[in-house]
Amino acid sequence: INSESSNFIQKIIDNDNKEGIYDNRVHTRFPPEPNGYLHIGHAKSICLNYSLAMNNKGIFNLRFDDTNPVKEDDKYIKAIIEDVKWLCPEWNGEVFYASNYFETMYECAEELIEKGLAYVDDLTSDEMREYRGTLTEPGKESPYRDRSVDVNLELFRNMRNGEYKDGEKALRAKIDMASPNLNMRDPVIYRILRAYHHNTGDSWCIYPMYDFAHPIQDAVERITHSICTLEFEDHRPLYDWVLANIDRFKVQAPKQIEFAKLFLSKTMMGKRYLKQLVDENYVDGWDDPRMPTISGYRRRGYTSESIRKFCDDIGVSKAQSVVDISMLEHSIREDLRMKAPRTMAVLDPLKIVITNYPEGEVEYLDADVNPENPEMGKRSIPFSREIYVEREDFMEVPPKKFFRLFPGNEVRLRHAYFVKCNEVVKDENGEVVELRCTYDPETKSGSGFTERKVKGTLHWVSANYALDAEVRLYDYMMEDEDFDKTNFLEKLNPMSKVTLENCKIEPNMSEALTGDRFQFLRHGYFIIDKNTEESEKIVFNRIVSLKSSWKK
Ligand code: ATP
Ligand code: MG
Ligand code: MG
Repeated sequence: INSESSNFIQKIIDNDNKEGIYDNRVHTRFPPEPNGYLHIGHAKSICLNYSLAMNNKGIFNLRFDDTNPVKEDDKYIKAIIEDVKWLCPEWNGEVFYASNYFETMYECAEELIEKGLAYVDDLTSDEMREYRGTLTEPGKESPYRDRSVDVNLELFRNMRNGEYKDGEKALRAKIDMASPNLNMRDPVIYRILRAYHHNTGDSWCIYPMYDFAHPIQDAVERITHSICTLEFEDHRPLYDWVLANIDRFKVQAPKQIEFAKLFLSKTMMGKRYLKQLVDENYVDGWDDPRMPTISGYRRRGYTSESIRKFCDDIGVSKAQSVVDISMLEHSIREDLRMKAPRTMAVLDPLKIVITNYPEGEVEYLDADVNPENPEMGKRSIPFSREIYVEREDFMEVPPKKFFRLFPGNEVRLRHAYFVKCNEVVKDENGEVVELRCTYDPETKSGSGFTERKVKGTLHWVSANYALDAEVRLYDYMMEDEDFDKTNFLEKLNPMSKVTLENCKIEPNMSEALTGDRFQFLRHGYFIIDKNTEESEKIVFNRIVSLKSSWKK
């Protein structure tokens, strides 16, 4: 984990340590609501909280904020745990659930009632909204605001015991209906809701609201620095109010610190929009390699190191901005550059017959597994009379500056020989189906041949020895630079997934496994997809192309 030592949150921690506020403890948490899969924005929050804890010899909690039973689901819990584990392999794996503190939260609510700081209100939610006022107008007090402690306690206990209908009553904090901050105008802290909860089942029919529950969850776990995103800035006075008014939490109360959400160019963000893509079948599930989910990036072939590095590089800020997606792509290219074996893959094969190469013969050519990392050793590539090259590497009538194959032209086959195109074979529709070439045995790669130069170098595979593969090329789902949630479905890129079914790859790939990553010469980085296990061919996802527009 890289150092975050210069960010503004670390400065707050340093200052707290200097003043001895938390006895030098640092305890952070990541508190997802289990209502969807995690996305790259969540990854930013996980990395930030995890690295702040680790860099300060502190503790990091994964805590499910599962206080709203309606949208939550066990399958999301499993997926989130898997994602956090993947992103932080050294995380201790302990999982916390806010719903385990329901009883504590209930006790805290009674404590507020006993202190005259909470009351049961009979106004409907529409009426409450009306009474609440606006930014320019103070709110109006509820006629039920002055109920006695005893009446409030009795009514609240009745709420818990299921004596009222959903929405019939609510518990509100008694703060200030004239506060300039609308969140402080007697916010609802408990509502009646009959809904099955994934953890507590039907044992509760009242549930705490986020702004009341969250500070208590943090305090129960003895969190020191409760990091959230900017939209909670004007909820902070309420966060502090709750903790200041509950005796057991007054001492070393956690502090809320806000930072700007991560947004990425060309990327939609927000669980509800991602869920819509899944539910309406615009993608093949939450882990579709086009999705900006952590599971999507994992399946796409991103390493967790590259995502952590990216999160660290972009830093943390109070100012909202959009990070260029090319920074993320740069991060995975850099991570794989030294690690990924190089190989040749022909995605759209065109056959070449080398007429002066003996039929039935094969020779094995030597090549580096990764020329940038000689320690990865050598591989051997069969060469024979029939090979495949990329269809787009041939043009019958070439434009200027086309240095690849065309009639009469000579090119280099990477790791092999020069070949010259002598004849073009077409089918009855006029489509090119084969090239007939000759090779020059003098020009073998590594032989030191310098008498002639050629301008084009092509990748290729031996037709007899190559393996079959399916390759999926991915592009951004969004053509716009910035995410516009109002009409993103109408503007999805129809070419965001292109599947090539007849690809040919080097035979030494036969031992490769799901999850292995390679650099295909000239095409980019690829990973073997899990679909390989049910397919006759090896299935690859393109992680990222080789070109980069972003320079550090
Ligand atoms: P979404 O808006 O995508 O539904 P959320 O904020 O509702 O996200 P939660 O599960 O409530 O999702 O969030 C868990 C944590 O992740 C919160 O602390 C939240 O602030 C943080 N988080 C969510 N989105 C981002 C983001 N884009 N950048 C950084 N942190 C984020
Ligand atoms: Mg949320
Ligand atoms: Mg949200």
